[in-house]
Amino acid sequence: MDRRKFLKTGGRFLAATPFACDLLVASVASASGPGAGRWGMVIDLRRCPEGCDACVKACRRENNVAEHGDPRWDVHWIRQVEIRPHGQEDAPTRTVPLLCNHCERPPCAQVCPVRATYQRDDGIVIVDHHRCIGCRYCLIACPYNARFFNYRENEAWPNKDYPKRSHGVAESCHLCAHRLDQGRLPACMEACRDAGAGAIVVGDLDNPESEISRLIAANSVKRIREDLGTGPKVHYIGL
Ligand code: SF4
Ligand code: SF4
Repeated sequence: MDRRKFLKTGGRFLAATPFACDLLVASVASASGPGAGRWGMVIDLRRCPEGCDACVKACRRENNVAEHGDPRWDVHWIRQVEIRPHGQEDAPTRTVPLLCNHCERPPCAQVCPVRATYQRDDGIVIVDHHRCIGCRYCLIACPYNARFFNYRENEAWPNKDYPKRSHGVAESCHLCAHRLDQGRLPACMEACRDAGAGAIVVGDLDNPESEISRLIAANSVKRIREDLGTGPKVHYIGL
């Protein structure tokens, strides 16, 4: 079975938490064809304390994301950025976790000349690192600066269960697809819950009963640069 097929067919889900129910629905749905399930994320900034870096650290550890200690070469799948309201230069900034939006219409996939970047049936946008030729078109096309490039070899390999990328390939968050397909929570969401915040919720946007759909229905949510027409699937509460 090739890797893409493996990712589509998904895994079994064993836990029985409310979050788990969300994951089960979307995980099974992802195996049953286009439109049957659609992964998305909510980040509730009201529950996301300034200075917390639990999601960033967990993502880096889980996915062997390169950290060289030099901002020119470091790769980020999720990172904390300082933002302030548009046009209000004197307004205080606040920290917001930023990651790939798994766009409904991803410009990164549209420009990739070798289809190394593609969208799964469940909406997750993935880079096939074996196909990537390192042209970096996707870095230019992504309006969210969510794509990074491995300019250097990454020596660290904390998670031996997940492959290390070599230099010369592009990458970004894949919503921990390998964990979702096993019925596990994404590393960032798990770490956020373990830290007592519970600000990150990943689930099936097509299921009105899912935790994520209920959060979106009950709150005022914003997505970053919706006006671009990319259809970002990361929703912020309290932005
Ligand atoms: S946020 Fe950027 S990398 Fe992620 S799907 Fe959209 S265009 Fe692609
Ligand atoms: S850098 Fe890789 S993933 Fe990005 S557009 Fe080029 S081939 Fe595709």
